[in-house]
Amino acid sequence: MENIRKALELVHTAKSLVILTGAGASTESGIPDFRSSSGLYNKPKRYDYPAEVLLSHSFFVEHTDIFYEYYFSNLVYKDAKPNDCHIALAEMEQLCNVKAVITQNIDGLHQQAGSSNVIELHGTIKRYHCMKCNKPYSLEELEPSSVPLCTQCGGIIKPDVVLYEEPLNENDLMNAIQQTAAADVLLVIGTSLTVYPAAGLLNYYKGNKLIIMNMSQTPFDNSAKVIIRDKAGRSMKKVVSLLKENH
Ligand code: NAD
Repeated sequence: MENIRKALELVHTAKSLVILTGAGASTESGIPDFRSSSGLYNKPKRYDYPAEVLLSHSFFVEHTDIFYEYYFSNLVYKDAKPNDCHIALAEMEQLCNVKAVITQNIDGLHQQAGSSNVIELHGTIKRYHCMKCNKPYSLEELEPSSVPLCTQCGGIIKPDVVLYEEPLNENDLMNAIQQTAAADVLLVIGTSLTVYPAAGLLNYYKGNKLIIMNMSQTPFDNSAKVIIRDKAGRSMKKVVSLLKENH
């Protein structure tokens, strides 16, 4: 509870609070992360390829059918709902100076919870486009049992998700860098901070009020003012209920 109170003090007095989230922010919504013991990387293997290969651009091009089979059964959770962490972050916008939620997640749950300025560094499973004519599609328009083809030109439809080997959207990355550089408090939730360039954002943070809320150690723990090693939903719910008491 002591660390929750320290985190509360920092977010309450922040002039510019920026939040960086990863897959751990969504595990309590039933979406597995990559690197926890119950994460995708530790799942019994059904395919002859590691997840980084299955989710790479070249694999998408060469084995689109296997890619989509893996993608729809491991990354798309249509019925997932925002959990206490997403809800608390959205509520925080009314209680303190939240400038942006930068997320590595592709599940759209921050927006669904009501966060208003969300930067999706790795894209989203909600949107798709035809690789030939660029026609946009939504997740709901796709048939998850086969390779989705464009109804207009027959081209292959690709998710608007940043795959391994693909660069991040330049505008999103610049926006995320600017927000991080301008933040006086940075709250990092549910990320192993091992995937670059997302983890590299921490090198742009100039303040000394870094809060890390993560179940396991991260390479940036030494730089943190407060570390909370508990479930993000429970921790964020406490922070927000204390913020409400102080409001
Ligand atoms: P990661 O799997 O590398 O790390 C997740 C971290 O979250 C771990 O350190 C784990 O200890 C922690 N964690 C798990 N559950 C938690 C909880 N309830 N509370 C607090 N901490 C918790 O994930 P990452 O760092 O985000 O990077 C991996 C990549 O995975 C990203 O590129 C992301 O796009 C992708 N991904 C996204 C989703 C999603 O959209 N929900 C799901 C899986 C993977």
